[in-house]
Amino acid sequence: MGAKYVLQASQFQFLFDALTARGYQVIGPKLQDGAIVYDALSSVQDLPAGWTDQQEAGTYRLENRSDSAFFGYTVGPYSWKKFLHLPARKLKRGKSAEGEFHFVSENEEIPKLAFVGVRACELHAMTIQDKIFMGGIYRDSSYAERRENIFVIAVNCGKAGGTCFCVSMKTGPKASGGYDWVLTEVIEKDRHYFVVESGTGAGKEILAGEEILKELDCPLAAEAEIALSERIVEETACQMGRRLKTEGIKDLLYKNLEHPHWDEVANRCLTCGNCTMVCPTCFCASIAEITDLTGEKVERVQKWDSCFTEDFSYIHGGSIRKTAKSRYRQWMTHKLAYWIDQFGTSGCVGCGRCITWCPAGIDITEEAKGFYGDS
Ligand code: SF4
Ligand code: SF4
Repeated sequence: MGAKYVLQASQFQFLFDALTARGYQVIGPKLQDGAIVYDALSSVQDLPAGWTDQQEAGTYRLENRSDSAFFGYTVGPYSWKKFLHLPARKLKRGKSAEGEFHFVSENEEIPKLAFVGVRACELHAMTIQDKIFMGGIYRDSSYAERRENIFVIAVNCGKAGGTCFCVSMKTGPKASGGYDWVLTEVIEKDRHYFVVESGTGAGKEILAGEEILKELDCPLAAEAEIALSERIVEETACQMGRRLKTEGIKDLLYKNLEHPHWDEVANRCLTCGNCTMVCPTCFCASIAEITDLTGEKVERVQKWDSCFTEDFSYIHGGSIRKTAKSRYRQWMTHKLAYWIDQFGTSGCVGCGRCITWCPAGIDITEEAKGFYGDS
């Protein structure tokens, strides 16, 4: 465990400035369209100070807090994947010449991004996507370069949401690795500060982080400050809004592929794909070639896709998953069962987004209960 320091809330702008001076664009939480989303921040004023959220199945509401916490909310509709595995990306451009198309690869500018406010479950989600995009024989070079260019400032959760279940998935609420810094926000009667710890290792970002702490002249945290910060995270662990029983879930789902519960979920599922868009681990994409009106120019574009669309499983002769039942079953069994065989880990980190942002209020933790006790 590294040394812990105290960063005053009033020093946060200096932190932003220090990151900017090192060439990083700061990305973090801000209020937008009635939600807390991740976007470019120009100053500390952009942070959602004093705001929190209330989340339930199919429900998300912003509310004022009684204090001015910067990170007093839980995860919103966006995840960090939109900066690493882009929602849309041009791959190649083609031009017709003498009856043939000639393609050239698009040059990508890879920005240096500082992610501020990454939660423990989100760090796990990033590790899962690392395996998908960089761990096998097919390496996504765009993802890999973006991943190498980020500075990760994690935040231990001081509040759990109504749809959170990271404790069940063993992914939070305390960040256990994968960050350059981790902060715990502490608000006392007349003090607002962060207990800061550097990540382990000697990467260039870690060293830059240590330089920044020295520049800001942050003192070492006192024992009482460390104890208070740890208590905050322990209390968060007791506030989980949801729970998912994970023992034996892989075999349970494999044994129940024809269980009538899938029909019951299918009656409610709109196959809108929201659950896959908001999920920080879902990675499916499709590639399309789009021509201009003359048919002389073409762009090859990769876009996020979803196993909830009929087209996604279209192969010669038709779609493999024609029904809502088959698509929901595919999604949930991939998340909680096939993923384990494929990547050695669950595909779910318990962030709760798919529960909150499902317009029908379908809840993966409740649906799983439909199979226990009747397998
Ligand atoms: S489970 Fe909910 S969010 Fe997912 S496709 Fe069905 S209706 Fe949409
Ligand atoms: S399946 Fe749902 S709870 Fe699990 S990681 Fe994806 S969005 Fe979060």
